[in-house]
Amino acid sequence: MAELIGLSLGAHLQSILAEYHSRQSIYGYPQRKFYPGFPGYDFSVDFHGRRAATPLGPASGPHTQMVQNIILAFLGGGRIMELKTVQILDQLQIPRPCIDVRNIGFNVEWSQELRLEDSLREYIGAWVLLKIIEKMEILGVPQGDPFYDTIFDISVGYDLKGISSPPLRDWLRRIMHAEEDVARILDTLPPEYAHLKKLPIDPRIANSATLSTFHGCPRDEIEAIVQHLISEHGLHVIVKMNPTLAGYDFVRKTLHEDLGYTHIELDPKAFENDLQFDEAAAMMQRLREFARSRGKNVGAKFTNTLMVKNNQSIFKDEVMYLSGAPLHVISMNAMHRFRSALGEDFPISFSAGVSKHNFADAVLCNMKPVTTCTDLLKTGGYTRLFDYLENLKNAMEAGGSHSIAEFILQNAEEGFRQNISTAGAANARRIVPQLAGNPRYHHSQNSKPPKKIDSRLTLFDCITCNKCLPVCPNGANFSIPAGEMQIPKTNFQYFGEGEFAPVENGEFALEQKFQIANLADFCNECGDCDTYCPEHGGPFIEKPRFFFSEVSYQRFNTYDGFYFPDPNSLKGRIAGKEYLLAFNPANKVYLWKNGVVEFLFSAEHRLVSGINFVELAEGEEIDMEPYYTMRVLLDGILSDPQNYSSMMLRSGGRI
Ligand code: SF4
Ligand code: SF4
Repeated sequence: MAELIGLSLGAHLQSILAEYHSRQSIYGYPQRKFYPGFPGYDFSVDFHGRRAATPLGPASGPHTQMVQNIILAFLGGGRIMELKTVQILDQLQIPRPCIDVRNIGFNVEWSQELRLEDSLREYIGAWVLLKIIEKMEILGVPQGDPFYDTIFDISVGYDLKGISSPPLRDWLRRIMHAEEDVARILDTLPPEYAHLKKLPIDPRIANSATLSTFHGCPRDEIEAIVQHLISEHGLHVIVKMNPTLAGYDFVRKTLHEDLGYTHIELDPKAFENDLQFDEAAAMMQRLREFARSRGKNVGAKFTNTLMVKNNQSIFKDEVMYLSGAPLHVISMNAMHRFRSALGEDFPISFSAGVSKHNFADAVLCNMKPVTTCTDLLKTGGYTRLFDYLENLKNAMEAGGSHSIAEFILQNAEEGFRQNISTAGAANARRIVPQLAGNPRYHHSQNSKPPKKIDSRLTLFDCITCNKCLPVCPNGANFSIPAGEMQIPKTNFQYFGEGEFAPVENGEFALEQKFQIANLADFCNECGDCDTYCPEHGGPFIEKPRFFFSEVSYQRFNTYDGFYFPDPNSLKGRIAGKEYLLAFNPANKVYLWKNGVVEFLFSAEHRLVSGINFVELAEGEEIDMEPYYTMRVLLDGILSDPQNYSSMMLRSGGRI
């Protein structure tokens, strides 16, 4: 399955409003961890002529492919969103699982999994929703406050043929001039938001792109793509560098000897095939001149993930891509060497093993944005962003600085404070050489996987640690307040002539107050919640799976799952068989259908009436286990109508 399906703007907006006003969270992200802005501290940075309220953001990857991901990153304080890479091949079959962040990170992820049209709708939808959040002052911050200043940076891949193809050209044109798409998306809002349909929204959603190329992409092709993006589209361009730029010997020594990751197998060929340092430096100099002559900027991003041999059992591919703590050391060194060669004012953006511990130092090195991915896949998910900014504030407070510029200047040694570029480079000269000696990046401190206990997940009940909720980049796992229960379970035996008699069948018991479930249309089976779940089996596999619509429920008909055909009814497939449970709020009676019989039950599970549609043998027993399963799910979701999952499911995404 693993297909992502986005929802309408109205469904997102109603869910946000209902959940935030009733329980002070959005997509499950609690208000106490929202980035509030820190009075007296200006974290803003200029990025290609636009202002972002912080230099922090989610890196192009699993945290930037859907509307809710971008909103969640915003709540944590991300203000430069590196959108997930789009490319001409938009119907990829990505192996699952694709993410392994047991400690450091590995992945076999690739570009945006949505079709080009769908990713455009998600990105523009997120842009519009951020403006609506501001207009409605949902977070309590006045409209127009610099707190909202947010930048979207496009990411494109992977070769000139694809990037210059008509579909990609059109895609880039539309995201840079989105008047029609913004109007179309606003027009889908339900009537109660009619006043928002004409909301003035800047249609220039992005003015910069980060270029991602294949490993081994020739230098002249990279150069041609950058020229194309500048000349044809008028974009500022960042070229994403591979860590192979640091050279095989340096990377091997750092990884194996300095940091102790001797089990990670490098592929010398990847280093030979990729762009070499001198070649890259000369290319970027030329491109800088090219861009300047056209009034644009180029910069370099450090770095892509590092291709290594797959010597572990999680993925099936021959290679996998390293991220996290060791990559931070390699990429910071590569960045520092590169900037020393290109000049201290060469624009650098950074993403490699960024966490709350090193974010402030990365800012000190005058890099922007500083983005993060692997760390957000760990316990707490997007809420971890808040700590990055709080640590930045603490570091600024300690030195008495109040803006990013002051912070960079004040931390540079005397003689290097004449401007930010010089100060940033001086800070890097101090910070970078110390990294390899810092135990935080060593294998010994990054070798323990999250704890597993001797227990296997089942449909209901687990230790209810809730770790699987925030670690999901897409907000796909949710919790249902079904309550504890212990009730007698009753089957029904057919007696002929429409008569059914109860047959006791043990007990139906739930030991936990909350049950975990999964929004199938938001889940791409990346596997991250399985990594962090203390029990075995994977929440996205074992827990009840809910589809937003009949269309996706039918499309993935080899899976068990559920959907709401209307706000009070649940249709389900359990062990391949279809069922319906419909609640009538007027008389509090439940209609139960299994294709053979139709029963009416009271709220207390008492049989009110029953009929059979097909001939039943006298004495035949109707198994009612699926009824109890669906009662738990339906009652639990109906009892929590303000949660985003309930809003989205019960509306069937039709809002
Ligand atoms: S529910 Fe789990 S497997 Fe699915 S997208 Fe979220 S983290 Fe990945
Ligand atoms: S499914 Fe796993 S991670 Fe989620 S609450 Fe249950 S035990 Fe915790």
